[in-house]
Amino acid sequence: MGVDESKCIGCGVRESVCPEAFEMKDGKSHVKNPDAECTKKAILSCPVGAITE
Ligand code: SF4
Repeated sequence: MGVDESKCIGCGVRESVCPEAFEMKDGKSHVKNPDAECTKKAILSCPVGAITE
C-alpha cells in the first residue's frame, strides 16, 4: 500500500479515519503501518484516490 504524493491534497481525512496506519508529515500523508485493520476504509475515504493498495 502506498500514497501517491502528487495526488494527495493533504486533507487529513484518512489520518482521522485510520490514525494507526497513517501520519501527516510536511503537509502530505505517509504510511506508517500498512498492516493496520482500518486501511481499507481509509483507501475508500480519500477524496482524490491517492491511496493505492
Ligand atoms: S485522504 Fe487522500 S488526499 Fe487526504 S491526506 Fe490522505 S492521501 Fe492525502
